[in-house]
Amino acid sequence: DMAANPGGTGKALGHVRRLTRLHHDDHLVIDATCRRNLELLRNSNDQGRRGSLLAAIDRTKTAAGARLLAEWLARPLTALSAIGARHDAVAALNADDRRRDELRTALAEVYDLERLLARVATGRCHGRDLVHLATTMRAANTVAGFLRGQSTTLPALLESAFEQLAPAPALMDAIKATLVDDPPLTISEGGLVRDGIDSELDRLRGIQRDAGEWLAQYQAREAGACGLKQIKVGYNKVFGYYIELSRAHGDKVPPHFIRKQTLVGAERYITPELKEYEDQALGAEERINALELAHFTRLRDQAEQALDALQACAHGLALIDVLAGLADVARKLGWCRPTIDDSLQLDLRESRHPVVEDVLGRGRFVANDCMLDAGTSSQSGSPEGRTSGPQPAKLAVITGPNMAGKSTYIRQVALAVILAQAGSFVPATSARIGLVDRVFTRVGAGDELARGQSTFMVEMAETAAILNHATPRSLVVLDEVGRGTSTYDGVSLAWAITEHLHDQIGCRTLFATHYHELVDLAVDRPGICNLTVSVAEQDDTVVFLHHIVAGAATRSYGIHVARLAGVPEAVIARARAVLATLEQLNVDLTERERPAARDQSAGAMQLTLFSPSEPTVVKRIKEVELDGLSPRQALDLLYELQRQARQ
Ligand code: ATP
Repeated sequence: DMAANPGGTGKALGHVRRLTRLHHDDHLVIDATCRRNLELLRNSNDQGRRGSLLAAIDRTKTAAGARLLAEWLARPLTALSAIGARHDAVAALNADDRRRDELRTALAEVYDLERLLARVATGRCHGRDLVHLATTMRAANTVAGFLRGQSTTLPALLESAFEQLAPAPALMDAIKATLVDDPPLTISEGGLVRDGIDSELDRLRGIQRDAGEWLAQYQAREAGACGLKQIKVGYNKVFGYYIELSRAHGDKVPPHFIRKQTLVGAERYITPELKEYEDQALGAEERINALELAHFTRLRDQAEQALDALQACAHGLALIDVLAGLADVARKLGWCRPTIDDSLQLDLRESRHPVVEDVLGRGRFVANDCMLDAGTSSQSGSPEGRTSGPQPAKLAVITGPNMAGKSTYIRQVALAVILAQAGSFVPATSARIGLVDRVFTRVGAGDELARGQSTFMVEMAETAAILNHATPRSLVVLDEVGRGTSTYDGVSLAWAITEHLHDQIGCRTLFATHYHELVDLAVDRPGICNLTVSVAEQDDTVVFLHHIVAGAATRSYGIHVARLAGVPEAVIARARAVLATLEQLNVDLTERERPAARDQSAGAMQLTLFSPSEPTVVKRIKEVELDGLSPRQALDLLYELQRQARQ
């Protein structure tokens, strides 16, 4: 606590203190791994926006709005009042389609004000920037009008944004009145200021405008005087105005022509009269440029003085843009306003995965409920809205076939929490979320392989981070822990990790796994429940219903998925045969081992799993590295086991 130590390097430390507070108190912590795993801002295929959560919900109309939305998603809030303020604003805009549409149409006229102002602040802006600034200020006025509409009171967040929308009105009018609609990108070469603003400017422009005519007359006059129709008056930057005549007529050049430059086939001359005219014309141009620059500079200085107000306006516009965009997604996709409180519940009804649903098309995604409660008093009292039924657990172990939708389900729960605390509505019919302080994910190996770490090492590093940092208020989402090692190691680790999460940390946890052994964790722990994904089986075909239900998976359907993926029929048939044999063996094992385990306490059950006094056949089976066996070796092993068992 820096306040307790006021001496020393106070200023620098004060800054550090602010950063600390920001990270741990005000914001839901989502580390880089989690952000990547959940594809919040970028997809994990090509790091593009497509397929990310951001892309699925971004309906902003302005560049600044899009940037602000990305910030909100990367750093959701943890203060109930601040989250509620965002929800209030989204709700107000969600309820009024017309006002929202008007607002969003007006927002589309807005330029990237933050970038414009950065150029104003650093003195690098040009005329077009100022015109865009004025256009944006006018659009901000329009936005303000639509926002206020008929309503006398606005939600606090919208009201505060509304108050920023009319900065420096005199500046806006001055820019519109002074500068032409489409000024050039340079400020020193004129063309910026309208006619009729400055009488001296108008007079000088008159001289310039007449130049063409004067030169034509002069050329005709000289040609007549010396009888040379071929002479031409021209201009270049180095010599100014000149008269050009081809070499062939060199002998007829009048004496007042002064030779200036010799080209391949022609000579260039000047005359005193031409030079006198040039002084006047070029002088006019210089004066014009200087006057225009002065007008521009005056406006730019005014803009610089109004910078604070303009920046506030930029922020107000971005804020309204984000809120209107979130309201629009919620409205169009039928999302609900979440209730956030300081309980430890997580209760989502008919929740969907916003990105997968977007890809599949609306109505084709199977919605699922999620009910977790990490509250210690969860055994007593039934929260309103909950029908009678089993008490929600802290931790759900989700087993189920490949491709059934486990990963999708656990991710969508994490996304709902992030969306809700970012201030958005959520894809569900109702949502009650007890504030989450950190979201942790342990999913797929991703691209770390390319960085030279083994899959398993990465997995364990991520798991370690979770076990070391999760609090009772965290949400943990685990997908397959322990796969990168031997089955024994894997199960043991997964088992111990789950126990620790439940017994020691007690946070809300979703754990999708292929280790059916973990199903037994729920036997004597009411805080753990088993979920699975329903499957319809008909003859030889399997249909994944993507519906999450209570219970444990009975089969894994891995062979079915392998077949879908195009693994040759012969291999599939052989795998079926091997599986049948192994399953038979498993049944024998279960019958021999389980009854004893079930009768005893959890501790005893765990011991049984690794008991030294088990039959040698069982020991042999447990020790064998199945993944390392060829089908032939597996069969040999079976024969050997049978022989031993019959002894
Ligand atoms: P694995 O165990 O192989 O990782 P999984 O059970 O995690 O598989 P997912 O990756 O979540 O399966 O889902 C597989 C596919 O099923 C998704 O890409 C999606 O197309 C579809 N799917 C998942 N959930 C749903 C759902 N609720 N409604 C409709 N389709 C879904």
